[in-house]
Amino acid sequence: MVNPAKRHSKKVTRRSPSGKRVVLYGAKKPSAASCALCGGKLQAVPRRSASGMRALAKTEKRPQRIFGGVLCFGCTSKVLKERARLSSGSLTRAEVDFTHLPYISMLRNQDAAKAK
Ligand SMILES: [Zn+2]
Repeated sequence: MVNPAKRHSKKVTRRSPSGKRVVLYGAKKPSAASCALCGGKLQAVPRRSASGMRALAKTEKRPQRIFGGVLCFGCTSKVLKERARLSSGSLTRAEVDFTHLPYISMLRNQDAAKAK
């Protein structure tokens, strides 16, 4: 069995000078990016080291939508629905999940900036 600590490391097979096959373990790969609300795995966010991320273009690092790289699609759609229902008055602030409120206020600040 492979050493459990090295299970998620990058594995490279090399031939040693004596002819033996050796497995070299590199740095551990970072864990997948997770949603800030539900903790689910974020899609389309690469699992790379800081230097590996630097090699990518900005648009390759996260989805190009609102809260891309922060919230998963399900949580984003919930936040957007709650923002619309709050602004139309069919929902009150007390009825909204309090963990969603910071994201709803971020959307409001964006709307205010656009109106200017
Ligand atoms: Zn989520």
